[in-house]
Amino acid sequence: MAETPLQILNSVFGYAAFRGDQQAIIEHVTSGSDALVLMPTGGGKSLCYQIPALIRTGTAIVVSPLIALMQDQVESLHQLGIGAAFLNSSLDAVAQRNVEQRLRAGAFKLLYVAPERLLTGRFLDLLEQVEVSLFAIDEAHCVSQWGHDFRPEYRQLTVLHERYPQVPRIALTATADAPTRQEIIERLGLQAARSFVASFDRPNIRYTVVEKDNPRRQLKDFLARHRDESGIVYCLSRAKVDATAAALADDGFCALPYHAGMSADGRAKNQRRFLSEDAIIMVATIAFGMGIDKPDVRFVAHLDLPKSLEGYYQETGRAGRDGLPSEAWMTYGLADVVTLSQFIAKSDAAEERKRVERSKLDALIGYAESIGCRRPLLLSYFGETPAGPCGNCDNCLDPPQTWDATVAAQKALSCVYRTGQRFGTRHLIDVLRGIDGEKVSKFDHDRLSTFGIGAEFDDRQWSAIFRQLVAGGFLAPDDEGFGTLRLVDASRRVLRGEVEVRMRHVADKIERRTKKKTLRSERKTQALEIAPHESRLWESLRNTRARLAKAQGVPAYRIFADATLLQMLREQPQSLSELAMISGVGEMKLARYGEEFLGVLTAF
Ligand code: ADP
Ligand code: ZN
Repeated sequence: MAETPLQILNSVFGYAAFRGDQQAIIEHVTSGSDALVLMPTGGGKSLCYQIPALIRTGTAIVVSPLIALMQDQVESLHQLGIGAAFLNSSLDAVAQRNVEQRLRAGAFKLLYVAPERLLTGRFLDLLEQVEVSLFAIDEAHCVSQWGHDFRPEYRQLTVLHERYPQVPRIALTATADAPTRQEIIERLGLQAARSFVASFDRPNIRYTVVEKDNPRRQLKDFLARHRDESGIVYCLSRAKVDATAAALADDGFCALPYHAGMSADGRAKNQRRFLSEDAIIMVATIAFGMGIDKPDVRFVAHLDLPKSLEGYYQETGRAGRDGLPSEAWMTYGLADVVTLSQFIAKSDAAEERKRVERSKLDALIGYAESIGCRRPLLLSYFGETPAGPCGNCDNCLDPPQTWDATVAAQKALSCVYRTGQRFGTRHLIDVLRGIDGEKVSKFDHDRLSTFGIGAEFDDRQWSAIFRQLVAGGFLAPDDEGFGTLRLVDASRRVLRGEVEVRMRHVADKIERRTKKKTLRSERKTQALEIAPHESRLWESLRNTRARLAKAQGVPAYRIFADATLLQMLREQPQSLSELAMISGVGEMKLARYGEEFLGVLTAF
């Protein structure tokens, strides 16, 4: 008798209930229709094609862009006792023929294939000899030229539909701004597919932005509340990755570098260690991350501004796939904004493209400078408007103090005007503070009416004011990329006194920290808070898991996720049938590991 999706969810995967749209998607695809699935990282996309693959006859062909990702998925399917394999460049000729032979014999419910492999004559011929149950196109945004994951082969995947019009297709992605979504539909010929758009909120992730002061010390303070946890630290350049990893290692953290300048072997080795060992900090450029399915990444820290808010959301989304509390943390300063502005201005891209990049940067600055809940700004990319403040970002937890900065803004803006809109903040601040340097004399700026009108603030305060004026759209960096500032329409309204400008208290957080008070947003997230009386059992459970993982050469989370282990700790099942009730314990894992864990649980 055929099993229902829910029965399979319970028995094979060991989960009690579907999340969000999973059931509707599974039923839709199982019945033979096409679907476009937009779901955040960790939302549970894999089940949306894996369960239909188990129900429908034949083999599901899953197109996936990354070798690591395929391997990971296939390993976890094997743990569940499901026949699955992959075909990609990591296999030698013998292994490849072996997979092909078993495919023809119907040994697999799922076959993962790299796009370039799928489009070869050899593979398309092979497909003629098997029954295909469905096509799943994972990371479907790779079809979009605008993202940094563009894969030209994805554009040719329409060939699947032309050859097999009766076979359902399901395209999945966690990147879902409107233009990318439209491009996926057009490029993959999914006009008739039903779209399933999940909420992109990740409530378990806490977002924090700190003003850049002494970034290395700030990073260490941050990492101090994540001792013994895995996480990623992103930097813009390779040199900074190397320097940061070395500095952290000196301080006793287990930090490894990862960037495109390293040898492929070195990268693979560090990635493997990050995946399989506990508590490794990966210091990386954004070359690292796509296809990292590690569920227990507890934090993602950015030492430099990301390229866009959407990129930021994707990068930070690598934290907390398991749904447990996690942190996304970023340091931010005006110098970053200037560097990125220049980068855009000086690139050879077409004007239209530059405008897009410019507005992406503006959105990012707006996010960093926001004095309200940060989540609506992140979710606006997905067309979502949260009902109220999230309660889990720094601005919600420690509402920033604001002040009426209208007069200061007027001083700053008129200084920009008087100096001819040709200077950057460094010089403008000197003029405002009445500092008579070489450049000031050279341009006779000590004779301006704005010379010395801003002596009440120091450098740091003025630079925060300028930063917030840019963020608020009251001043714009020049288009040539020299770092100079010019007035815009909104500046004139401020100068005429028509609008009030409110700003975050300068150095607000730093002042409050010197009072030795830990901010609420700086309290440790309650990720895996193990009480003292639980710690012995917890260690035993973890050791058992580590031993089983090591014996098979797989990461610990492949045996059981932290969330599953945590539930065992809290509920202490005393029989196999009680153990089977724990989320994440399906039939195969119960059979393989049940006795072992029960032994530990009953001994306490
Ligand atoms: P995505 O591919 O969308 O990033 P995954 O498919 O990797 O997410 O799922 C994220 C995690 O959530 C995995 O550990 C998965 O097993 C788990 N998961 C998925 N669906 C459910 C569910 N209905 N109940 C409990 N856990 C689930
Ligand atoms: Zn919030």
